Amino acid sequence: MTTLVTWSFPTTIVFGVGAVRKVADYVKRTGTKRALVVCDPGVVKVGIADRVRSLLEEGDIAASVFDRVDPNPVEKNITEGVEAFRAHEAGCVVCVGGGSPLDAGKLIALKVTHDRPLADYDDSVDGGRFITSNVPPIVTIPTTAGTGSEVGRSGVVTLAQTARKTVIFSPHLLANAALLDPELTRSMPGRVTAATGFDALTHCLEAYCSVGDHPMADAIALSGIEHCAQHLVRAVDHGDDLSARGGMMKAAMMGAVAFQKGLGACHSLAHPLSSEKGIHHGLANALCLPAVVDFNQATAAARLERIRAILDANSKDCGTALRALRKRVGLPQGLGAEGVSAADVPKLADKAFEDACHRGNPRPVTREDLAELYRASL
Ligand SMILES: [Zn+2]
Repeated sequence: MTTLVTWSFPTTIVFGVGAVRKVADYVKRTGTKRALVVCDPGVVKVGIADRVRSLLEEGDIAASVFDRVDPNPVEKNITEGVEAFRAHEAGCVVCVGGGSPLDAGKLIALKVTHDRPLADYDDSVDGGRFITSNVPPIVTIPTTAGTGSEVGRSGVVTLAQTARKTVIFSPHLLANAALLDPELTRSMPGRVTAATGFDALTHCLEAYCSVGDHPMADAIALSGIEHCAQHLVRAVDHGDDLSARGGMMKAAMMGAVAFQKGLGACHSLAHPLSSEKGIHHGLANALCLPAVVDFNQATAAARLERIRAILDANSKDCGTALRALRKRVGLPQGLGAEGVSAADVPKLADKAFEDACHRGNPRPVTREDLAELYRASL
């Protein structure tokens, strides 16, 4: 086993090949011996859910696996997860998987102790003020390198009432510990590696360019962009390269730490593409990001110039560098390839404008700007 390193920022993060083997230790540290493992059918299929369950049981933790989480989590996943938590008399949630099980697991933990309807906790109406520290402990184990949800303080869920992707944000949703094991991302197919990697890159880029003064977030975002520039292509082309896989896990982690500063218009465009059209979140970002960067070019010129220089010193601007990278990692070049047409734009733009992320965009956006950005991304 290679050396494991531990960071606290403020979540305790254990990084390195073999980190997953620490799961029982970290559950015990939260003071419980019963864990609900939240994952999805994909995590079960590749055998990772069973592996985590065995590791927990070997460490004397009673584990029950809950895998009914949709690719874009819906309210029902949370309600059923809370029932599973209670049926198992669990004391903590171990979230295993990509962004969806990680987000769902955090929101299941929230709802175990918080009785209001999920809509009340919506970040766009400052719902985080209703969230107290009385949330069961959370341990996160990512199997992709993109959302950074393992160290993030938010969960995204599509609510039944509004059919809208809703962000729930509170420091009390931070995991107690995150175990980042590059080995767990080795089986991720190239296209998923590319799409989730673009999500990490989008988090870093949007955080760095977002409004507000946050030098710590800026520094982390820049380093995250450097990690993407160095490792994304290699992780896509050589999935067995654990150094590239680890580099992208670090980029994902840094993106999620950085975006406590804010995000931007790209994430507002991406959210309805998932809830309305079922497009993978990272891919939705990859398809919209160049147009958003072009739109922000004049307002955020100095910052985008810095990113351009990191991504590709020879490209003429940041949007061009991003389009080239997107092509290099084998992703489609427009929303049209994913079944989105001009007829979809008005409804998507309405939903994107309701989304709170664009408030961080360096150049303010109107509903019509968002519609135009979708058209420019077709
Ligand atoms: Zn994202």
